[in-house]
Amino acid sequence: MSDYVFTPPDRASLPVEGRTARFPLRRIFCVGRNYAAHAREMGNDDRDPPFFFSKPADAAVPAPIEAAPRLPYPPMTADLHFEIELAVAIGAGGADIATGDAWDHVWGYGVAVDLTRRDLQAEAKRTGRPWDWAKGFDQSAPIAPLRPAQGARPGAGRIWLAVDGEVRQDADLSEMIWPIPDILAHLSQAVALRPGDLVLTGTPAGVGAVTRGQHVTGGAMDLPEIGFTLD
Ligand code: MN
Repeated sequence: MSDYVFTPPDRASLPVEGRTARFPLRRIFCVGRNYAAHAREMGNDDRDPPFFFSKPADAAVPAPIEAAPRLPYPPMTADLHFEIELAVAIGAGGADIATGDAWDHVWGYGVAVDLTRRDLQAEAKRTGRPWDWAKGFDQSAPIAPLRPAQGARPGAGRIWLAVDGEVRQDADLSEMIWPIPDILAHLSQAVALRPGDLVLTGTPAGVGAVTRGQHVTGGAMDLPEIGFTLD
Protein backbone atom coordinates (compact mmCIF):
# COMPACT_ATOMS: atom_id res chain seq x y z
CA MET A 1 0.00 0.00 0.00
CA SER A 2 1.56 3.29 -1.10
CA ASP A 3 1.63 6.31 1.15
CA TYR A 4 0.48 9.56 -0.49
CA VAL A 5 0.75 13.18 0.65
CA PHE A 6 -3.01 13.42 0.11
CA THR A 7 -5.75 11.01 -0.88
CA PRO A 8 -5.42 10.38 -4.63
CA PRO A 9 -8.46 11.18 -6.75
CA ASP A 10 -10.58 8.26 -7.90
CA ARG A 11 -9.36 6.47 -11.00
CA ALA A 12 -11.25 7.49 -14.12
CA SER A 13 -13.52 4.65 -15.25
CA LEU A 14 -16.44 3.94 -17.54
CA PRO A 15 -19.63 1.94 -17.05
CA VAL A 16 -20.06 -1.34 -18.89
CA GLU A 17 -23.36 -2.44 -20.38
CA GLY A 18 -25.13 -4.97 -18.18
CA ARG A 19 -22.44 -5.13 -15.48
CA THR A 20 -21.67 -3.38 -12.23
CA ALA A 21 -17.89 -3.67 -12.79
CA ARG A 22 -16.42 -0.65 -14.56
CA PHE A 23 -13.73 -0.33 -17.24
CA PRO A 24 -10.64 1.32 -15.64
CA LEU A 25 -9.59 4.13 -17.94
CA ARG A 26 -5.88 4.81 -18.50
CA ARG A 27 -5.41 7.12 -21.51
CA ILE A 28 -7.60 8.44 -24.33
CA PHE A 29 -6.08 8.53 -27.81
CA CYS A 30 -7.91 10.03 -30.77
CA VAL A 31 -7.33 9.58 -34.50
CA GLY A 32 -7.48 12.68 -36.69
CA ARG A 33 -9.15 12.75 -40.12
CA ASN A 34 -10.06 9.09 -40.49
CA TYR A 35 -13.03 9.54 -42.83
CA ALA A 36 -12.29 10.98 -46.28
CA ALA A 37 -15.37 13.18 -46.45
CA HIS A 38 -14.57 14.73 -43.04
CA ALA A 39 -10.92 15.29 -44.01
CA ARG A 40 -12.15 17.12 -47.10
CA GLU A 41 -14.69 19.22 -45.18
CA MET A 42 -11.79 20.32 -42.92
CA GLY A 43 -9.79 21.32 -46.02
CA ASN A 44 -7.34 18.41 -46.09
CA ASP A 45 -6.29 15.72 -48.48
CA ASP A 46 -7.87 12.32 -47.70
CA ARG A 47 -4.72 10.21 -48.13
CA ASP A 48 -2.64 11.42 -45.17
CA PRO A 49 -1.30 8.72 -42.84
CA PRO A 50 -3.14 8.53 -39.50
CA PHE A 51 -2.12 10.97 -36.78
CA PHE A 52 -3.09 11.06 -33.13
CA PHE A 53 -3.81 13.39 -30.26
CA SER A 54 -4.88 12.74 -26.67
CA LYS A 55 -7.39 13.73 -24.06
CA PRO A 56 -6.83 13.28 -20.32
CA ALA A 57 -8.56 10.20 -18.91
CA ASP A 58 -10.59 12.38 -16.55
CA ALA A 59 -12.07 14.24 -19.55
CA ALA A 60 -14.31 11.19 -20.00
CA VAL A 61 -17.92 11.59 -18.84
CA PRO A 62 -20.35 8.67 -18.78
CA ALA A 63 -23.27 9.76 -20.97
CA PRO A 64 -25.79 6.95 -21.47
CA ILE A 65 -28.77 8.14 -23.52
CA GLU A 66 -31.16 7.15 -20.70
CA ALA A 67 -29.41 9.43 -18.20
CA ALA A 68 -28.51 12.18 -20.70
CA PRO A 69 -26.33 14.17 -18.27
CA ARG A 70 -26.03 17.95 -18.50
CA LEU A 71 -22.50 18.96 -19.47
CA PRO A 72 -21.15 22.46 -18.90
CA TYR A 73 -20.61 24.53 -22.03
CA PRO A 74 -16.79 24.87 -21.84
CA PRO A 75 -14.97 28.18 -21.39
CA MET A 76 -12.84 29.94 -24.02
CA THR A 77 -14.97 28.99 -27.03
CA ALA A 78 -17.84 30.29 -29.11
CA ASP A 79 -17.71 27.34 -31.53
CA LEU A 80 -18.04 24.03 -29.68
CA HIS A 81 -18.28 21.18 -32.21
CA PHE A 82 -19.59 17.61 -31.92
CA GLU A 83 -17.73 14.66 -33.49
CA ILE A 84 -19.35 11.23 -33.16
CA GLU A 85 -16.77 8.43 -32.96
CA LEU A 86 -16.52 4.68 -32.37
CA ALA A 87 -14.34 4.09 -29.29
CA VAL A 88 -12.14 0.99 -29.01
CA ALA A 89 -11.31 -0.12 -25.46
CA ILE A 90 -7.96 -1.89 -25.04
CA GLY A 91 -7.81 -4.96 -22.81
CA ALA A 92 -4.36 -6.34 -23.64
CA GLY A 93 -1.36 -4.07 -24.08
CA GLY A 94 1.48 -4.22 -26.54
CA ALA A 95 3.96 -2.31 -28.67
CA ASP A 96 4.42 -2.71 -32.42
CA ILE A 97 1.18 -4.66 -32.70
CA ALA A 98 0.80 -6.36 -36.09
CA THR A 99 -2.45 -5.64 -37.91
CA GLY A 100 -3.13 -9.39 -37.94
CA ASP A 101 -2.95 -9.52 -34.12
CA ALA A 102 -4.73 -6.24 -33.37
CA TRP A 103 -8.18 -7.67 -32.60
CA ASP A 104 -6.66 -9.75 -29.78
CA HIS A 105 -5.87 -6.50 -27.92
CA VAL A 106 -9.44 -5.17 -28.00
CA TRP A 107 -11.59 -5.48 -24.87
CA GLY A 108 -14.71 -3.79 -26.20
CA TYR A 109 -16.41 -0.91 -27.97
CA GLY A 110 -18.39 2.18 -27.19
CA VAL A 111 -19.86 5.35 -28.65
CA ALA A 112 -18.11 8.63 -27.85
CA VAL A 113 -18.27 12.28 -28.83
CA ASP A 114 -14.97 14.10 -29.34
CA LEU A 115 -16.09 17.56 -28.22
CA THR A 116 -13.87 20.17 -29.86
CA ARG A 117 -13.36 23.89 -29.32
CA ARG A 118 -13.13 24.44 -33.09
CA ASP A 119 -12.16 28.09 -32.82
CA LEU A 120 -9.19 27.21 -30.59
CA GLN A 121 -8.25 24.40 -32.97
CA ALA A 122 -8.28 26.78 -35.94
CA GLU A 123 -6.06 29.17 -33.96
CA ALA A 124 -3.69 26.33 -33.05
CA LYS A 125 -3.45 25.22 -36.68
CA ARG A 126 -2.80 28.78 -37.80
CA THR A 127 -0.08 29.41 -35.23
CA GLY A 128 1.46 25.92 -35.19
CA ARG A 129 0.58 25.45 -31.52
CA PRO A 130 -0.61 22.21 -29.85
CA TRP A 131 -4.24 21.06 -30.06
CA ASP A 132 -4.53 20.34 -26.33
CA TRP A 133 -6.80 23.28 -25.45
CA ALA A 134 -8.99 22.54 -28.46
CA LYS A 135 -9.42 18.87 -27.62
CA GLY A 136 -8.39 18.02 -24.07
CA PHE A 137 -10.54 20.27 -21.90
CA ASP A 138 -12.66 19.18 -18.92
CA GLN A 139 -15.55 16.85 -19.82
CA SER A 140 -14.56 16.87 -23.49
CA ALA A 141 -15.17 13.14 -23.96
CA PRO A 142 -18.75 12.04 -23.20
CA ILE A 143 -18.95 8.27 -23.69
CA ALA A 144 -21.84 5.78 -23.68
CA PRO A 145 -21.53 2.51 -21.71
CA LEU A 146 -18.98 0.14 -23.21
CA ARG A 147 -19.83 -3.30 -24.55
CA PRO A 148 -17.37 -6.23 -24.36
CA ALA A 149 -16.15 -7.26 -27.81
CA GLN A 150 -17.09 -10.94 -27.50
CA GLY A 151 -15.43 -11.59 -30.84
CA ALA A 152 -16.95 -8.61 -32.67
CA ARG A 153 -14.66 -7.07 -35.28
CA PRO A 154 -16.54 -4.01 -36.50
CA GLY A 155 -15.67 -2.94 -40.01
CA ALA A 156 -19.06 -1.72 -41.12
CA GLY A 157 -22.27 -0.41 -39.60
CA ARG A 158 -24.09 2.87 -39.24
CA ILE A 159 -22.57 5.71 -37.18
CA TRP A 160 -24.74 8.77 -36.57
CA LEU A 161 -25.30 11.86 -34.42
CA ALA A 162 -28.34 14.07 -33.98
CA VAL A 163 -28.81 17.51 -32.41
CA ASP A 164 -32.27 18.09 -30.98
CA GLY A 165 -33.42 15.06 -32.95
CA GLU A 166 -32.13 16.29 -36.30
CA VAL A 167 -29.55 13.93 -37.82
CA ARG A 168 -26.31 15.80 -38.52
CA GLN A 169 -23.78 13.00 -39.03
CA ASP A 170 -24.82 9.78 -40.78
CA ALA A 171 -22.16 7.50 -42.20
CA ASP A 172 -20.82 3.96 -42.19
CA LEU A 173 -17.82 2.59 -40.31
CA SER A 174 -16.66 1.04 -43.59
CA GLU A 175 -15.79 4.60 -44.72
CA MET A 176 -12.86 4.72 -42.27
CA ILE A 177 -9.62 5.39 -44.14
CA TRP A 178 -7.71 3.35 -41.53
CA PRO A 179 -9.71 0.42 -40.10
CA ILE A 180 -9.33 -0.54 -36.43
CA PRO A 181 -6.40 -3.01 -36.87
CA ASP A 182 -4.42 -0.41 -38.84
CA ILE A 183 -5.12 2.26 -36.20
CA LEU A 184 -3.86 0.02 -33.40
CA ALA A 185 -0.80 -0.98 -35.44
CA HIS A 186 0.13 2.65 -36.14
CA LEU A 187 -0.62 3.84 -32.61
CA SER A 188 1.37 1.06 -30.96
CA GLN A 189 4.44 2.01 -33.00
CA ALA A 190 4.43 5.37 -31.18
CA VAL A 191 3.45 4.26 -27.67
CA ALA A 192 3.09 0.91 -25.94
CA LEU A 193 -0.63 0.35 -25.48
CA ARG A 194 -1.78 -0.74 -22.03
CA PRO A 195 -5.01 -2.21 -20.66
CA GLY A 196 -7.47 0.62 -20.01
CA ASP A 197 -6.42 2.71 -22.98
CA LEU A 198 -9.28 3.98 -25.13
CA VAL A 199 -8.95 4.88 -28.82
CA LEU A 200 -11.43 7.19 -30.55
CA THR A 201 -11.35 6.23 -34.21
CA GLY A 202 -12.23 9.51 -35.94
CA THR A 203 -15.41 11.18 -37.07
CA PRO A 204 -17.33 11.15 -40.36
CA ALA A 205 -18.47 14.26 -42.23
CA GLY A 206 -21.15 16.57 -40.90
CA VAL A 207 -19.44 18.05 -37.82
CA GLY A 208 -20.89 21.30 -36.59
CA ALA A 209 -21.56 23.55 -33.65
CA VAL A 210 -23.69 22.71 -30.64
CA THR A 211 -24.99 25.52 -28.44
CA ARG A 212 -26.28 25.85 -24.89
CA GLY A 213 -29.51 23.97 -24.25
CA GLN A 214 -29.13 21.64 -27.23
CA HIS A 215 -29.49 17.88 -26.82
CA VAL A 216 -27.00 15.59 -28.54
CA THR A 217 -27.69 11.90 -29.23
CA GLY A 218 -25.70 9.39 -31.23
CA GLY A 219 -24.90 5.79 -31.95
CA ALA A 220 -22.77 3.29 -33.82
CA MET A 221 -24.00 -0.11 -34.98
CA ASP A 222 -26.26 -1.42 -32.20
CA LEU A 223 -23.99 -0.29 -29.35
CA PRO A 224 -25.50 1.53 -26.35
CA GLU A 225 -26.39 5.05 -27.48
CA ILE A 226 -24.96 8.32 -26.16
CA GLY A 227 -26.96 11.33 -25.03
CA PHE A 228 -26.23 14.63 -23.25
CA THR A 229 -27.37 18.23 -23.06
CA LEU A 230 -25.09 21.29 -23.11
CA ASP A 231 -25.72 23.62 -20.18
MN1 MN B 1 -12.29 13.55 -33.55
